[in-house]
Amino acid sequence: MDIHVQPAGPDQRKPKPTDESQLGFGDLLTDHMFIMDFDEGRGWHNPRVVPYQALKMDPAAMGLHYGQEIFEGLKAYRLADGRISLFRPESNIARMNRSAARICMAQLDVPLVLEGMKQLILLDREWVPRSPGTSLYIRPTMIANEPHLGVRPSRSYVFYIIIGPVGAYYKEGLNPVKIYVEDVYIRAAVGGIGEAKTAGNYAASLLAAEKAKEKGFTQVLWLDAVERRYVEEVGTMNMFFVINDEVITAPLNGSILPGITRDSVITILRDWGVKVSERSLAIDEVTAAAESGSLKEAFGAGTAAVISPVGQITYKGTDYVVAGGKMGDLSRRLYDEIVGIQYGQKDDPYGWRYPLTEA
Ligand SMILES: *Cc1c(COP(=O)(O)O)cnc(C)c1O
Repeated sequence: MDIHVQPAGPDQRKPKPTDESQLGFGDLLTDHMFIMDFDEGRGWHNPRVVPYQALKMDPAAMGLHYGQEIFEGLKAYRLADGRISLFRPESNIARMNRSAARICMAQLDVPLVLEGMKQLILLDREWVPRSPGTSLYIRPTMIANEPHLGVRPSRSYVFYIIIGPVGAYYKEGLNPVKIYVEDVYIRAAVGGIGEAKTAGNYAASLLAAEKAKEKGFTQVLWLDAVERRYVEEVGTMNMFFVINDEVITAPLNGSILPGITRDSVITILRDWGVKVSERSLAIDEVTAAAESGSLKEAFGAGTAAVISPVGQITYKGTDYVVAGGKMGDLSRRLYDEIVGIQYGQKDDPYGWRYPLTEA
């Protein structure tokens, strides 16, 4: 399918950031977007790259009422040789198709989405920042847009990709975060939609996150919905705990998001000969390990921060210091390895880099 490209006119172009050290996350978006439509019986059609613009949507669009909305998050990096590269983009689109299947939305054509993403990024290539640690954030999104108020899956969808430059996550070094173990609210339950990257999961998480922020915490650590006992994940990161020589992360049991960074971490650790267990881990086991000194490190893993070391865990009013409040050795090595692969400073034995242009 041909992708029609309509470049923005001079008056539709926005000023590019002049000081990359001031880049944050999520405020700046580029001059163009990729968009296409789906209708039952016709499939995906009219894929196009157009000037960034508001969506036209009927007030009765089903996605606005019943939550059929899914998204993804990945990044484009400038390699040391000047090329622009993605990181495991097929994994994001495959995950988006699993999210779509879970909430009865249309399946995407993976090569078409990749091609649309590539054409969009190359058209806006001057927006990809150059300073160390900066990148271009990519947000694929799908929304049900059939105008209908009865509850059932929509018969039409819009899919689009918007992109924008983002700053280095760690401006002042990799500072460990304080996390609050949430024992009242839950994010998702097994059998629900926790494993889908869909809007409702984030709506469910906001109140607890706001309360934790008021108390001075950066992140909420979610426990399982049934017993409030087993650790699941934090805001937009999967969690890893290093207890003695074992690295433990929650199993993909349906209530947590199957992170691509999580998968990268597990792959690299096993390659290094480190023991990794995907198993249920009770919060009491974590706190006991912290007290006995066997909890060596804890860190979150996700696209935004890559590796986010945890320096303190607070559970039922008790603070547990982790790794002396500093970044652990394993966290540091993992961070360096994954970032090195993403920016082309290290070998890519797994074929995770996806350069968009020739050298
Ligand atoms: C996106 C996300 C993650 C991390 O996934 P990555 O593919 O590693 O970026 C983890 N948990 C939640 C809830 C998420 O939304």
